[in-house]
Amino acid sequence: MRWRGRQGSSNIEDRRGVRFGRAGGIGIGTIVLALIAIYFGQDPSVVLQGVQPSAPTSQEGPYQETPEEAQQREFVGVVLADTEETWGQIFSQAGRTYEQPKLVLFSGAVESACGFAEAAVGPFYCPGDHKVYIDLSFYQELQNRFGAPGDFAQAYVVAHEIGHHVQTLLGISERNMAARQQAGEAEANALSVRQELQADCFAGIWAHNADRSRQLLEQGDIEEGLNAAAAIGDDRLQKQARGYVAPESFTHGSSEQRVRWFKRGYETGSVQACDTFGTNQL
Ligand SMILES: [Zn+2]
Repeated sequence: MRWRGRQGSSNIEDRRGVRFGRAGGIGIGTIVLALIAIYFGQDPSVVLQGVQPSAPTSQEGPYQETPEEAQQREFVGVVLADTEETWGQIFSQAGRTYEQPKLVLFSGAVESACGFAEAAVGPFYCPGDHKVYIDLSFYQELQNRFGAPGDFAQAYVVAHEIGHHVQTLLGISERNMAARQQAGEAEANALSVRQELQADCFAGIWAHNADRSRQLLEQGDIEEGLNAAAAIGDDRLQKQARGYVAPESFTHGSSEQRVRWFKRGYETGSVQACDTFGTNQL
């Protein structure tokens, strides 16, 4: 990506200097968190199950970032700024105002309006405070464990979480949450898949705009994004984790579906084209 030298967003909240102590007793739901750690982009209900209602005691000190971390922080800031531009324009064309979300950088663990979360949950969006949370060490994991290297793969992660913010602003998340609470498990999972695939499609819309309007993309970037989308498909993750695939337990969509919806957003740049709830063809 051609991101260097571009203005970063002012909506980055750096909480990497905050350290949590364990105030006695049993661990912090680490097992639950470890189980769901194979995904990024938890949907809100998963995050709510995976976090403590209140955080252990915390201390704040200066955070010493490595040159590599400094570069990643800058990169995330530029991507966030570009999503602000993209969605600001789309919302204003529809006669609405885009409310810019904050992006919280944390290290190890963080307290959000959705509860206390450890880095193992991966990046997530909390609809309760309209913030995206990311521990930059996830990018190492994305490259090494999921086999999805490249700056555009990293940008896709941010753009997907921003997709959940857009869903929240549009009332889609709330409607879907209500529908899921009425549904049985398989149906609730299917609704989660639709929401996740739409966030992938919204990430594609960002890529469309970053490419067409600002020429941020370089050769090979889209392939990096598609590779990342495929790498975190439920089928591939399940196969790696337990050797078989159970489609009714999917909550994010298969590799093929994630690639398809990201591509659709990228090719059309259209919110209407991302109607994963109104189609039988996921
Ligand atoms: Zn997600």
